[in-house]
Amino acid sequence: NMLESPDFTEVTTTADIRKQRHGNRAKCLQRLVRLGLPVPQTVALSFETVRNIANGQMPDLTSLLGVFEADPLLISVRSSSEAADWGGPGTILNIGMNDATHALLSERLGRERADKLYLRFIRSFAIEVMRLDDAPFLDAQTPAAAMAEYAAEMDDAFPQDPTVQLSEVLRSMARAWEGTSARLLRQAQGAPADAGLGLVVQRMALGLAPGQSGAGVIQFVSSVTGEPQVTGRYLGQALGREALESNAKALFLTKDPRGPSLEELLPEVYAELVAAGALMRRKLRAEMQAEFTIEEGRLAILDAVRVKRVARANLNIVTRLARDGIITRQEAMMRVEPQELSQLLHRQVDPAATITVLAKGIAAAPGAASGKIVFDAAAAQAALSRDEPCILVRRETSPEDVRGMHASDAILTERGGMTSHAAVIARGLGVPCVSGATGVKVDHDAKQIILPDGSTLHDGDILTVDGSSGRVLSGAAPMVEPALDGAFGELMTWADDLRDIGIRANADTPADAALARTFGVDGIGLCRTEHMFFEPGRLTVMREMIFAEDPGDRAAALERLLPMQRADFIELFTIMQGAPVCIRLLDPPLHEFLPSNKEGMRAMAEALDIPLSRVRAHIESLNEYNPMLGMRGVRLGVAIPEIYEMQARAIFEAAVEVGRNGTPVVPEIMIPLVSAQREVELVKRRVDALAASVRGESGTELDFRLGVMVETPRAALRAGEIAENSAFLSFGTNDLTQMTYGLSRDDAGRFMSAYVNEGVYPEDPFQTLDLDGVGELLLLGAERGRAARPDVVLSLCGEHGGHPESIAFCRRAGFDYVSCSPFRVPVAKLAAAQARI
Ligand code: PEP
Ligand code: MG
Repeated sequence: NMLESPDFTEVTTTADIRKQRHGNRAKCLQRLVRLGLPVPQTVALSFETVRNIANGQMPDLTSLLGVFEADPLLISVRSSSEAADWGGPGTILNIGMNDATHALLSERLGRERADKLYLRFIRSFAIEVMRLDDAPFLDAQTPAAAMAEYAAEMDDAFPQDPTVQLSEVLRSMARAWEGTSARLLRQAQGAPADAGLGLVVQRMALGLAPGQSGAGVIQFVSSVTGEPQVTGRYLGQALGREALESNAKALFLTKDPRGPSLEELLPEVYAELVAAGALMRRKLRAEMQAEFTIEEGRLAILDAVRVKRVARANLNIVTRLARDGIITRQEAMMRVEPQELSQLLHRQVDPAATITVLAKGIAAAPGAASGKIVFDAAAAQAALSRDEPCILVRRETSPEDVRGMHASDAILTERGGMTSHAAVIARGLGVPCVSGATGVKVDHDAKQIILPDGSTLHDGDILTVDGSSGRVLSGAAPMVEPALDGAFGELMTWADDLRDIGIRANADTPADAALARTFGVDGIGLCRTEHMFFEPGRLTVMREMIFAEDPGDRAAALERLLPMQRADFIELFTIMQGAPVCIRLLDPPLHEFLPSNKEGMRAMAEALDIPLSRVRAHIESLNEYNPMLGMRGVRLGVAIPEIYEMQARAIFEAAVEVGRNGTPVVPEIMIPLVSAQREVELVKRRVDALAASVRGESGTELDFRLGVMVETPRAALRAGEIAENSAFLSFGTNDLTQMTYGLSRDDAGRFMSAYVNEGVYPEDPFQTLDLDGVGELLLLGAERGRAARPDVVLSLCGEHGGHPESIAFCRRAGFDYVSCSPFRVPVAKLAAAQARI
């Protein structure tokens, strides 16, 4: 035993320093005592002591109680886990009430109050400690009745000895912590399997006493906005948190037109509370919520915890603390979870709302939306034209659905994972998406969804998709609007000042680029040009190009695509105002541009004015067994070089044009899916030749960089020779993960949860970069690339680019930048800054 001060005593039963911890509540109370705040005498039991109690070894309670200087002595016991959100058994008040105390308090406080205290203790001892049925004890209206009930249930009289009472309370709390459900709950909050519980025994200040007595809860900022604002309640003749009960006739704390306040009733005590709040903020360096009691006009602070807050309030609170010089900017940045920022950018399901979860899937694109269920892209567009919010529900999505995805308010797919088509597109569009919904069956023909519980939803039913949590909710859930206030911009500036790795955005459209720009990106790290061909007017020309019978026809179609591409790039370069823009040449297999059903084929035959049979035959001829490993990426560039040539020309002409208007542009051109050095050589020769002719035609200087996407294991292994012809290497970790594992990114959703549950993979490698395997290829590729070409620019542009662990990894490996979807940019910036702290 160690006597800290008369007001705070720590009890440990071990010499092992690591086990001498007492938990966050004890630590906080100890600090409040040291600050000189009026905390009632407290004894803290260590994790080890409590673990021993659970195993039947009780510390010497007579000497424990001997520490307290009060007569009669009433005490409370509260839990003190390592982290506040790991939970812990509920507080037990009024321990020490027995017949003798009751008699004494009847004299001192009056019979009615003594009865109340005694009755409450018997009730909570019976219900919470001995776990008896609550109904009879709630019915009992006098201590005598409750004691009789207790004796009948327990075959034993209600314990009178305070050490026996305390011993039962401690035992029940220690055991509750070891229970299975408590364990699962805290593990879900990130607690380790051996997380400890401390207990805090405290002398009660009596809010049930004559004169001005009562109890309340106070905090000094709003939990919703984080702005300074005294909130809380106070209730006269009350204990604990009774003031917060909904039917309590509690007082406001500050003057309020709606009713009486503590400030008016007891101005001095109120001032003392406000001063305590300011002191705690300065010395504990946090916004605290305090539980207090007033006993005959005297203030006691029983407990203080960090104010519970939503993401927006947290941001405001920590930036204010930093601005006031209480914490450093770095510390402020460390107190924001990068993920919280992404919540701020989107509408969220109101955390306070009562909702019904119908299914869960992968949180594939953040934000939440409600709307009517539609089953295809056309219906989504029709809904948009009627201004009706809709949720596009598909088994999985394909490029044909993109316009429908654009038109919908949220997307739900039965299949797919974090990098499936639906997920990638939805993140790019900023449309909330849940993919791979477990146990959900989508029946397109019957236009219905079968839910995990067997019930069904139909066309037109209202649904909420919460892409931030992966939940599918019944009906239209209440929402909270996004809020980007000054604190957000301030934190981003601090992160920009500190971070030493670039953050670019994956942006395919002018809208994406403009959004990325508002988040202050360092450039575009990946522009997937294929998305530019899905615009309705263009798709037909693209199809003509694919269907061309001879080089002449193909050239004619490409000739028509050229000005469209050029216009796209002019827009992108203009928006980015000279910041780097990295454009990837066409990547997907050509069949993705072709219709997959009869209707589509018929429409195509009509549009191209050719027989349906020819359409079908051509589509069949493009059919591949393994399209993701087939004719795509640079293989298209080698086999049909005219496509890349058209794209390179469009890029160069756009650069020249924008450059003429005053913004010098140095475009970056990226070759996808490379696996051999020769592929790069072939493309490079043609691109160089095109640059030369555009230079000649325009009479302008034109600078550009050509680089390679490292997406195949072979490209990583041969990065040395590949780097000889590339100014940069950008690791596309989506394909690289797919190929390293031999795991289809579009099909893995079906067994991914089983694989993660069985511990085959620690996490879905498409969501969390596999540092051991894929990461090793990254390191190897980086090292070999750099050895061959010391100034080679290294980056990562797969979906992992927006994840804090991947960013820290890339930073350690000396990468120049990561690129992620625009909405992840703030998250990535903060994570990059944190990685440096
Ligand atoms: C990748 O493979 O990591 C990548 C960025 O390209 P895409 O997702 O378009 O295949
Ligand atoms: Mg790829």
